Amino acid sequence: MTDSIPPAEPSAVAPEPVTVIPGVGPAMADRLRRLGVSTVQDLLFLLPIRYEDRTRLVELGALRPGMRITVEGRVDLTEVVFRRRRMMLCSISDGTGSLLLRFFHFSRSQTEGLKRGTRLRCFGEVRQGVSGMEMVHPEYRRLASDSGPPLEDTYTPVYPSTEGLQQGRIRRLVDQALLRLSADPPADLLPKSVRDQLEFPPLVDALGYVHRPPAGASLELLEDGRHPAQRRLAFEELLAHHLSLRLLRGRIRSHRAPRLRGGSGLLERFLDALPFELTGAQNRVLQDILADMSEDKPMLRLVQGDVGSGKTVVAAAAAVVAADAGFQAAVMAPTELLAEQHFRTLENWLSPLGVGVTWLTGRLTAKARRKALEEIAGGQASVIVGTHALFQAGVEFARLGLAVIDEQHRFGVHQRLALTEKGGADGTRPHQLVMTATPIPRTLAMSSYADLDTSSIDELPPGRGTVTTVVVPAPRRAEVLERVRLACESGKQAYWVCPLIEESDVLQCQAAEETAAALAASLPDVSVGLVHGRMKAPEKQAVMDRFKAGEIQLLVATTVIEVGVDVPNASLMIIENSERMGLAQLHQLRGRVGRGSADSSCVMMYEPPLNNSAERRLRVLRETNDGFRIAEEDLHLRGPGEVLGTRQTGVMQMRVADLMRDRGMLPEVRAVADRLLSSHADSIAGILGRWIGDAARYGQV
Ligand code: ADP
Ligand code: MG
Repeated sequence: MTDSIPPAEPSAVAPEPVTVIPGVGPAMADRLRRLGVSTVQDLLFLLPIRYEDRTRLVELGALRPGMRITVEGRVDLTEVVFRRRRMMLCSISDGTGSLLLRFFHFSRSQTEGLKRGTRLRCFGEVRQGVSGMEMVHPEYRRLASDSGPPLEDTYTPVYPSTEGLQQGRIRRLVDQALLRLSADPPADLLPKSVRDQLEFPPLVDALGYVHRPPAGASLELLEDGRHPAQRRLAFEELLAHHLSLRLLRGRIRSHRAPRLRGGSGLLERFLDALPFELTGAQNRVLQDILADMSEDKPMLRLVQGDVGSGKTVVAAAAAVVAADAGFQAAVMAPTELLAEQHFRTLENWLSPLGVGVTWLTGRLTAKARRKALEEIAGGQASVIVGTHALFQAGVEFARLGLAVIDEQHRFGVHQRLALTEKGGADGTRPHQLVMTATPIPRTLAMSSYADLDTSSIDELPPGRGTVTTVVVPAPRRAEVLERVRLACESGKQAYWVCPLIEESDVLQCQAAEETAAALAASLPDVSVGLVHGRMKAPEKQAVMDRFKAGEIQLLVATTVIEVGVDVPNASLMIIENSERMGLAQLHQLRGRVGRGSADSSCVMMYEPPLNNSAERRLRVLRETNDGFRIAEEDLHLRGPGEVLGTRQTGVMQMRVADLMRDRGMLPEVRAVADRLLSSHADSIAGILGRWIGDAARYGQV
């Protein structure tokens, strides 16, 4: 990947605020801001969410439910009736058919204005009534003569709206913005060769078209967001986001990083002492990492590997190399439980080699925290494991050389960026290693992780048993209990995962406590343990230790065990209310079994009846263990914002583009970005300024 990227200059011309439009005062500007509009240009990029067709009349005989259209007809009868509530019914006809207009709110003068014989033009949504087609509360106007006023010659846009701002008003504002646009057209920042090649209309035409599509335009294409005019805009937006990540990468890579190379053969000793050999995939990925770390630019590498592929040991090996070179490595995990588990694992592996491991989370006592901070600042701690508390103010590293972020999808881009600020005293920046178990479809990775190089651990360690998944309705709980009893009797261990209660952590933990008590009562010969998110870290760890040691046979848990927990002897997992959980989450949970050589099973219980999407999720899980297929399905079901976990970070918030819908354009986006970076550097700042207002923030790292 190229690193020779020109610095992004913020756009030289300040964008015009909306208040330059006559009639837009501070109050209106305030309301517009709620729609994300502060400049005239923002107004142009505020795209309609749908369109209304007021360009033609539809005969009453041709009406179908669901149509939103304009009709004309003569009033046959208007009456006020009581049917559960008071309402006004007005039926009109045009010789081809008739239509009932239904009003719940009306005045006497309205009723009087709808006398038999009055000609009306109505706009509204047609629905099937008891006795034919009807419209509820249509917009209507009385027509004086036989030929009404002319129909619209463009489709009517419907914008996202906010309180105190009516559609008509937004339309007029956009009209003003369009006028200014045609008077003073902005530069088309896509090189002409690119536009020609992709058959994109010029920017000005594209904007005009999406705001005012001419009668006859394909509403279907438009409402799907697939019209060339929309694709033209989406392309530029995707390009802007891609460029911003590439620039960010360039900025980070322009800093110096310490060259980390094993000095004293510590890595070899570490690998020799492991109870297993690295897989070919682990070795390959480790080589990528070591090559990056031996350079004097910060590594920016994403390692993807399905659940259980063995990412931890690869990260540990990288940490060993950093320690051997006299630098510190920080390992950040998304939950306390996982941080603690990583801490234990790393301590086991590294202490015998004389590498000091320390841990730091938000929940340490003041005294323990002070001690940890001292060790980190003093350099006695070589490897520091923790939650995001690691990167908060007050944590000073003596010589941070490597930052590892595990299960990255839980952290936002900003948290990732905060790492780069924790450099060593000599002005260097740490190498970054990001690890994720959510396989990211390649095209999306290209866009969302354009700043990272990627390596995949695409092979599981040998000797793993298979995992069979069954889906069982909750009424068959007794069978499930029997299965747990038999498994425990034969020396196996099991997890019982309690329902996800999103509204309340407290309720969720309560439910887990009750489940544990009920299970202990129905399985008197089984030793039952409980772990949940509200327990203190040492309590949690004590339970996990007893489970690991085999003293606990059945571990009841909330979804805290979702990520990273590793107990190879556990070969049965029961998940309650699996229909409430997402695909990725279920796949992660299931990844807790099948870690040893025994064959394992996962029982997904559900409360019938299943809705369509839950049924599809469970079917996918029953059919496959392949993390990539599951991630693809997840993308279809939930969309990339959720899957990539970047929704909150703002970076992925797009105005026009939709990563899922427009993913087909991503390879082209990347190719065009390459061209711009190498030969059209001047248009980059403009593109960023246009689409990513605070581009500078991403550039100045
Ligand atoms: P994940 O990629 O999900 O983080 P872990 O790093 O937790 O996976 O590894 C899962 C389990 O596999 C651990 O018990 C780990 O010790 C073991 N493991 C990792 N690599 C190998 C290997 N090459 N051979 C055998 N077992 C391995
Ligand atoms: Mg892991």
